[in-house]
Amino acid sequence: MNYISTRGAGIGERHTFSDILLGGLAKDGGLYLPGDYPQVSADELARWRALPYADLAFEILRKFSDDIPAEELRELTRRTYTAQVYCHVRDEENAAQITPLKTLGVEDGASLSLLELSNGPTLAFKDMAMQLLGNLFEYTLAKHGETLNILGATSGDTGSAAEYAMRGKKGIRVFMLSPHKKMSAFQTAQMYSLQDPNIFNVAIDGVFDDCQDIVKAVSNDHAFKAQQKIGTVNSINWARVVAQVVYYFKGYFAATKRNDERVSFTVPSGNFGNVCAGHIARMMGLPIEKLVVATNENDVLDEFFRTGIYRVRKSSETYHTSSPSMDISKASNFERFVFDLLGRDPKRVLQLFRDVEEKGGFDLQASGDFARVQEFGFVSGRSSHDDRVETIRDVFQRYDTMIDTHTADGVKVAREHLQAGIPMIVLETAQPIKFGETIREALEREPERPAAFSGLEDLPQRFEVLPNDAQRVKDFVAAHTGA
Ligand SMILES: *Cc1c(COP(=O)(O)O)cnc(C)c1O
Repeated sequence: MNYISTRGAGIGERHTFSDILLGGLAKDGGLYLPGDYPQVSADELARWRALPYADLAFEILRKFSDDIPAEELRELTRRTYTAQVYCHVRDEENAAQITPLKTLGVEDGASLSLLELSNGPTLAFKDMAMQLLGNLFEYTLAKHGETLNILGATSGDTGSAAEYAMRGKKGIRVFMLSPHKKMSAFQTAQMYSLQDPNIFNVAIDGVFDDCQDIVKAVSNDHAFKAQQKIGTVNSINWARVVAQVVYYFKGYFAATKRNDERVSFTVPSGNFGNVCAGHIARMMGLPIEKLVVATNENDVLDEFFRTGIYRVRKSSETYHTSSPSMDISKASNFERFVFDLLGRDPKRVLQLFRDVEEKGGFDLQASGDFARVQEFGFVSGRSSHDDRVETIRDVFQRYDTMIDTHTADGVKVAREHLQAGIPMIVLETAQPIKFGETIREALEREPERPAAFSGLEDLPQRFEVLPNDAQRVKDFVAAHTGA
């Protein structure tokens, strides 16, 4: 398997899975993708139907990472996808399934169900990929005798998923910046209660954007970055995307009886990482009818899939909503799809994403490329706070099931794209406890709290408060790496 950049650098060079695992952007600023998508044969699809999650993950990942010896990869997936790690299931009999499918009912002749992706340690779907990344990083670093210091900024979900994935891992430290006293009590407790010596919570006196600016400033100091072996785990990481391909297969098998049936998926979307994995599953040959992109009020992606116009937002036009993990101004993985949409023409991708930087966007309507979106199965929709509240209430009353705000965006938009006879699977991206305020507004009751999280807010917390000053953060990192 060879990886190429969406902007064309390194054509003719070889990049293996391990080569791109620890890096971010390609050197021309593009994103990595496989030179060709591996195809799944009818025989494989038949054989995979019965596999437990970890072994399905092995079969799929192996097609993308042939530089890792098969036995070692199998060991990594079996260590990652266990009932112990994904233990926060709401239905005990699902304990071994990792991503159980919960059928809600039949609407407009289509069965509507939720694929539970948030039974992991931080109760959000980011654990699905991040837990694998933790084990892959540890494995690769050990192999090369290297260490890595991950520096990140978080307003909640990503930071905690990264910390829970990297805690206790050899050769890895995590320095996670978060805005002091600006996260919910639950999110704060989730992160700050970690006592592992390789995890450093840094509470910055400022807002989330200040944290992000510090990470940028530190990353732009190339000497410091090299000396301290600084890395990141952001959503463009290829291994994160490919780990997410697995549950599209798992969901397909759970919703069908035979491999000639088709299903549709609806994906609550922000940075386009999750639904990009669905696109890849479809390109591999999984019988997916539609990929429905659901956004909240930050509708950059919905606008594109309706009109062919991609127009990134300024921060003043980016709303803080009650599904905050989808509050984005541009979709960092979108370039991967555009590359395929344009027939894998890196020169045009380079030009379009220059236009994004210089003019704030591009328009594919006029060129005729936009018409091909349908061939790739994509449709979209958006939702508002009132829609979320209404959907949470409706799903609770009708199906006795409590869903979180992001999943509610998904269910709302899924209902606009049902087709009789084609199962619709909505990806459940978080558990309701993470977004309690809106649950209380919709249902006038407390969100369900998994047993293991009782008393979380009372645990001792370990964090360091620093001023909004990049130099002070550098000093803190250097003092704790000893380099
Ligand atoms: C990150 C996140 C999303 C958005 O996923 P993308 O891969 O960025 O599109 C949706 N819901 C929740 C709960 C998330 O944490």
